[in-house]
Amino acid sequence: MATYQKILVAVDLSSESEVVVAKAQMIAGPAAEIHLAYVQEPMDNIYVGIVPQSAAFSGLGDLETQLEGGVKTRLAAVGEQSGIPLECLHVLRGTPAHEIHRFADENNVQLIVIGTHGQKGLQLLLGSTANSVLHGSGCDVLAVRIRAKDK
Ligand code: AMP
Repeated sequence: MATYQKILVAVDLSSESEVVVAKAQMIAGPAAEIHLAYVQEPMDNIYVGIVPQSAAFSGLGDLETQLEGGVKTRLAAVGEQSGIPLECLHVLRGTPAHEIHRFADENNVQLIVIGTHGQKGLQLLLGSTANSVLHGSGCDVLAVRIRAKDK
């Protein structure tokens, strides 16, 4: 059976990211392309429903730009640690599952690799990024179990 030639690893830039990338590298064929993507959620997405929209939020654009700088630096560090070239590192903007699906579809990704904490109780009811990515993916999805020692 042919191995996956194009793999997308969804990274949240926490310390567990390197574990998820390492698992993708373990199953990748020698000629496989591995891409890493971090999805930055727009701040107004995050605060809607929690904090009333007000003039205080007019500076959100600047804050997002600053955050994006930090995100790129962190993603570059994960890429360097794992030997993934810069052109395979992507910062996307939007809702994580939606953007991961869109990137995978537009770039003919054959496998999405994502971390999972094995949610229980309320977390299970609310859903997780791994669940959202799994449901609705047009390609295979590998969920890498994150254990407490990996964090
Ligand atoms: P969580 O939903 O926090 O349990 O995250 C589980 C996994 O979803 C992480 O290990 C990543 O693979 C992926 N993930 C979560 N948030 C993001 C994000 N903002 N961008 C890309 N991947 C993410």
